[in-house]
Amino acid sequence: MDDVGEPNLLNDKLNLRQLILILSVFSVLMTLINSFYSMYRVQQQLIITNTIESNRVYAEKMAETTDLFIESAFSQLEYSAALLSQGMSDTKVQQQEVDRLRTQTSFFNSVVIVNSKGVIVSISPENIQLKGVQLKGDRSLQSLNAKVPLITDPFIPPSGNYLTSISYPIFSENKEYLGYIAGTIYLEQKNILNTILGKHSYKDGSYLYVVDRNRTIIYHPDAKRVGEVIDTNEAINAVTKGEKGGKPIVNSRGVDMLAGYAPVALSGWGIVAQRAEALTVATLNEQMWKVFIKSLPIGVITVLIIWVASVFISKPLWQLASILKNYESHTSTGYDLIKVKSWYFEASYLKRSFLNTLNIVSNTINQLHSDSLTDSLTGLLNRRGLDKSQDNLRIQKIPFSVLAVDIDHFKKVNDVFGHDVGDIVLKNVAEHLKLQARELDLVFRSGGEEFLLFLPKTDIYHAKYAAERIRKSIESQDFETVGHVTVSIGVAHWAAEGKPISAVLKEADDALYKAKDNGRNRTELSISS
Ligand code: GH3
Ligand code: MG
Ligand code: MG
Repeated sequence: MDDVGEPNLLNDKLNLRQLILILSVFSVLMTLINSFYSMYRVQQQLIITNTIESNRVYAEKMAETTDLFIESAFSQLEYSAALLSQGMSDTKVQQQEVDRLRTQTSFFNSVVIVNSKGVIVSISPENIQLKGVQLKGDRSLQSLNAKVPLITDPFIPPSGNYLTSISYPIFSENKEYLGYIAGTIYLEQKNILNTILGKHSYKDGSYLYVVDRNRTIIYHPDAKRVGEVIDTNEAINAVTKGEKGGKPIVNSRGVDMLAGYAPVALSGWGIVAQRAEALTVATLNEQMWKVFIKSLPIGVITVLIIWVASVFISKPLWQLASILKNYESHTSTGYDLIKVKSWYFEASYLKRSFLNTLNIVSNTINQLHSDSLTDSLTGLLNRRGLDKSQDNLRIQKIPFSVLAVDIDHFKKVNDVFGHDVGDIVLKNVAEHLKLQARELDLVFRSGGEEFLLFLPKTDIYHAKYAAERIRKSIESQDFETVGHVTVSIGVAHWAAEGKPISAVLKEADDALYKAKDNGRNRTELSISS
């Protein structure tokens, strides 16, 4: 950009390059931010929907498995109950059956037989010292009171283990209620639910828990929460009503969760699989950051390309503006303008227009300049031209001779033939003087019918010789309408030093008067030259 100057020229105003740059970088950033934001929103929605969906599927699967387990548990108990309908009096049979049931199925932490009076008559494992114990309390007596196959609400029996039990009533052949056989699940210890549900991977922060129909947690990976009653949780609201599905929820601790849920039909339990939304979205943030890092080089390259492009686009206009600005202070010329590489339409059109304008202006100035120095009637140099020429000769110290030429009795020409004819005579004489003069001689119209000739580097004698040649040539000329015209000439010389040129002109004028006095149509030399 170089030969035309640097940006300070255009003062405090922003230039095109900066504007293009600002605009482009702004657009790139906005596009990037916009695409990142929309990508983020779409991905976020997708990951949320997928998480809810996979939790829903998982909860349903687990509910099905749990249902199968309960169904199987009931049929095992039903079998034992049928067996015991004849053997309730035989304690050995009872003990054998509870032991078999506990060890063969591994469904239950313990198995008990309770008689119709609510007394434990058999228990496995036997080391639980509860045989003969009378059950008390509503919850402990749920199965006894129901007399139907039942999954009890969690309770604490005399053994002290928080548990839920699956019981089956025992009836004699004549439909007499004999008691029930029940398998227990110790909710706070390793149990069948752990085995069924505990395989879920927690690595990604998702987990699963089970509530009973009264919203009490009966299974939770955090064992401390077993027994807790959850009042405010939309997933639990839905699942305890028997609904299955998935939705974003706020859990009982105020954390946003993406939950899937499904009820366990046989027990009225609800299974909830969930993952913290923040955790889910955090992985997305990580992904987006990676995408951002990956797209960074392209972004930087784009900005660089824009920068280079903005330089190229703005360069011709910038140069044109700089040249025009410098033109005012004469530090650049039309030639600088020609050198500008205007490679696109607007710049090239501006360049052409500027060049045309400059040409027109300089031609006009030249014309005005020469007009101001010449006489309009004869085309000879006028008084201003005379002054300028004098200055040049004086400055360059070029010696010259002066011929002061005056048309004789010109007044008569005007009087006899009219002013217009007089003008034609003036023009003809002027042309004649020019014709007679050498190339480097200067011919002026110094007044009405008076002329001056400067003959550079010509001494007074050669000048007199030239004057005579001119005088005779005019005298011999046959002018249209007026016939013959004569001139008188005074000659003087400036030797490039000493007196001022104005004094020499006065001398030439004096010599001219002398020629007039001496009868006209003649040449006189200035005495002092
Ligand atoms: P002399 O021999 O003493 O020079 O006599 P002259 O008549 O030539 O001199 P004078 O100074 O008395 O008259 C000059 C005349 O030239 C007067 C004027 O009307 C005329 N004249 C001056 N300028 C022009 C012009 O531009 N056109 C015409 N047609 N006449 C001009
Ligand atoms: Mg005169
Ligand atoms: Mg005259």
